[in-house]
Amino acid sequence: MLSIKNLYVRVDGSDILKDFSLVIGSGEVHAIMGPNGAGKSTLAKALSGHPDYEIVSGEVNLDGQDLLALDAAERAQLGLFMSFQYPVEIPGVNNASFLRMAYNAKRKVAGQAEVDPMEFEVILQKKLELLKIDESFLERAVNHGFSGGEKKRNEILQMAILDPKLAILDETDSGLDIDSLRIVAEAVNALRDSQNSFLLITHYQRLLNYIKPDFVHVMVDGRIVQTGPAELALVLEEKGYDGF
Ligand code: ADP
Ligand code: MG
Repeated sequence: MLSIKNLYVRVDGSDILKDFSLVIGSGEVHAIMGPNGAGKSTLAKALSGHPDYEIVSGEVNLDGQDLLALDAAERAQLGLFMSFQYPVEIPGVNNASFLRMAYNAKRKVAGQAEVDPMEFEVILQKKLELLKIDESFLERAVNHGFSGGEKKRNEILQMAILDPKLAILDETDSGLDIDSLRIVAEAVNALRDSQNSFLLITHYQRLLNYIKPDFVHVMVDGRIVQTGPAELALVLEEKGYDGF
């Protein structure tokens, strides 16, 4: 699904990702853990096509396509989704309309007919139930005045609607109380299948109590320094990152 080879990314004049490589197969869930400043969010943003993140060298392939040759919108249309560590508030943009436009933009590229607001309502209702999200979310502006936990749930609602091939969740667990954490994890588990993949970026082990990853990677100073099974997260929780 995703192959990253020897990626170097520069931000604001300094090299943040240094010789970063990672392969994620179809149907796999990978977790990246690491200390603050390791470059985890930089990885997520560089893959999404954020213009501030300069690709110095390296190759990235998503589902057989050269990801780096595409702009951010094209990457999303190809099936890449990223949930922000710090979701942006967009006052004045209705959440339900935003979701429908994003949904229709993807359908259009796939050559499918757009859905009208009433048809979309039916699709939305199912996802709201899955995520135990209150309907009042839809009538508000995107993330505007949402609590930290509500923003994170709204990111997951976007993911559920867009049904990505590869979802990158950047610390979606931070700022969530235990009930929200469980709901987010259940949603990821419900959306997981053999055709899609997840990259969970997390600082803590607790999310991985609810979502069992196939692989855990330790990221330090711009690259992966160790890879192991799900149990590696427990070792990290106990010993911290000092050993790296
Ligand atoms: P992590 O998510 O692992 O905590 P980040 O990717 O956010 O780490 O940051 C890695 C390093 O890159 C940090 O030293 C951070 O200050 C720097 N950095 C990230 N984004 C920017 C930016 N937009 N401008 C300047 N420096 C940045
Ligand atoms: Mg980060």
